[in-house]
Amino acid sequence: MAKGICPVCGNEIELSPRERLPYTRVTCPRCLAELEVVEIDLVRLRRVAPEEGAEKP
Ligand SMILES: [Zn+2]
Repeated sequence: MAKGICPVCGNEIELSPRERLPYTRVTCPRCLAELEVVEIDLVRLRRVAPEEGAEKP
């Protein structure tokens, strides 16, 4: 289940699969602010080569 945080009042808003699209307009049920989906994934991962992540002094 995808959730978003209202930037106005901090309310947690659950997004249905249909709303999980960029630029989808949703209304905060608490403060009734009009919001737009700008980020879908909270965590992004990418694969790196073993050497790439190693820290070099
Ligand atoms: Zn709100």
